[in-house]
Amino acid sequence: MLGLMQEQPLLISSLIEHAAETHADRQVVSRDAAGGIRSFGYRALASRARALAEALIALGVKPGDRVATLAWNDHRHMELYYAVSGIGAVIHTVNPRLFPQQIGFILNHAESCCLFFDPGFTALVTELAPGLTAISHFVEMADEAAVPLPDDPFVRQNYEHLLAGRTGAFAWPPLDDRAASGLCYTSGTTGDPKGVLYAHRSTVLHALSAGGPGGFNVTRDDVVLAVVPLFHVNAWGLPYVCALNGATLVLPGPRLDGASIYELMRSQSCTMAFGVPTVWMGLIDHVKNNPQLRPPDELKLRRVIIGGAAAPAALIDDLQDLLGCDVVLAWGMTELSPLGSIGRVPRKGELADEEARRRRLAKQGRAVFGVTMKIVDADGQALPRDGRAAGRLLVRGPWVTSGYFRHDAPLLDADGFFETGDIATIDPAGDLEITDRMKDVIKSGGEWISSIELEGVASSHPAVAEAAVIAMPHPKWQERPLLIARLREGRSASADDILAHMAPHIAKWWMPDDVVFVDDIPHTATGKIQKTKLRERFAGHQALQSGPN
Ligand code: AMP
Repeated sequence: MLGLMQEQPLLISSLIEHAAETHADRQVVSRDAAGGIRSFGYRALASRARALAEALIALGVKPGDRVATLAWNDHRHMELYYAVSGIGAVIHTVNPRLFPQQIGFILNHAESCCLFFDPGFTALVTELAPGLTAISHFVEMADEAAVPLPDDPFVRQNYEHLLAGRTGAFAWPPLDDRAASGLCYTSGTTGDPKGVLYAHRSTVLHALSAGGPGGFNVTRDDVVLAVVPLFHVNAWGLPYVCALNGATLVLPGPRLDGASIYELMRSQSCTMAFGVPTVWMGLIDHVKNNPQLRPPDELKLRRVIIGGAAAPAALIDDLQDLLGCDVVLAWGMTELSPLGSIGRVPRKGELADEEARRRRLAKQGRAVFGVTMKIVDADGQALPRDGRAAGRLLVRGPWVTSGYFRHDAPLLDADGFFETGDIATIDPAGDLEITDRMKDVIKSGGEWISSIELEGVASSHPAVAEAAVIAMPHPKWQERPLLIARLREGRSASADDILAHMAPHIAKWWMPDDVVFVDDIPHTATGKIQKTKLRERFAGHQALQSGPN
């Protein structure tokens, strides 16, 4: 017998209409490249999104078409999120930090028909335009139309001109909620980037779970700073989560250095902020280098949410101690829309046992409702949830991908689980700990050494700003760890100092065979340590010591 409840499709347009009706007093605040701030109430933003939807239809955009963006976080990018998917088309966000060839590949592979871009990316678009086979409209996201250059390889339309004269009195069409709504390519560290194709239903369900008390816990009283980019994994769902819950959303534009982020948090009284560890490292450096700042008095920050890569314990301590806020760790992936698990880190003194608290610093929290997890050994056999057995992490759920865009290869196991490529433990309380990526773990003498754990211990040395651990080939042990460290400005430490600091915290056979110092640790376009680059750079490195002694 079927229930007798109304069947309403779960549509993205319903989120912005809800915000316009119920949370019109809450805002989307947008900072531009020059530092200018603009605010739009949700009613005004919804109206602009509807006007843009009309304009897209007038350009010839049809349901299922891909509309690409190359843009930072601002209100126009957010309007595109709603306008494009609201008419049944697919918003295809492209990461401008990728190599131009990768961007060209992604745009052509998706056959996106329009490209909306920030004026700051004009040179990039000019370089790419001749090779873009499917784009028929280039739209510059600027206040005023740019003066065309004599050798422009494309005709540039202006965003505000597209909106001009449109009233926003447009009714969102009804859609099948399984229809595609968004497209985001993974960074493609191995092989070509692959597209993850989100749907209306998956996006709304993700927003309900991710924004609720078992997730980020975003409320009407929050002012949310999204440092996470709109061009990668839906900015962790924040454009949807904030509209659904009536939170003010602050979009920082292109300036993401510590000083600019601090100033925006201060001036907008942000209560929550979302970003990858490198962003928070920049913020902490700024606070440490400017002792006149008084963060707990000047900021209203209650929570910092860190995801996208493992957060070193020292960074978590600094955020809690210097900013006086809570730290929440989140794990996720492009393929998971992105949220998979989340957990708050207890503050010092909150647990009777400080050692137990420190162990929690490495954990990525519990699965959110909707995501089912399992860990398996090399043969696919389930491993116990004892916090010790580390295995391949697989996940299943309504906002987990079932296959890549335009890839026929089956992706899921017999039970419908997706292989994340991460290695993890799960403890009896359900807390997940990512110990490595499958391709980064160090296989020494038939056992695994966690590069993430070594990085965490090394970066707890006061002189170490950032640490990366990679595997070096070894004739006897197969692989051995090499520690690469960047020191804090004005601080010094020798390899022996750092190894001595690490010794009490790790097994003897986990000790890196060598430490090398670098001025800079490279990062990927999504803020992760770029280990492929480090492996190339240190390919022939001769270690001080060869294997465990
Ligand atoms: P992406 O698809 O670019 O968002 O990258 C997803 C990958 O980032 C995951 O498979 C993890 O390897 C890594 N990752 C994401 N969040 C975390 C976290 N909190 N701790 C450790 N690794 C993470």
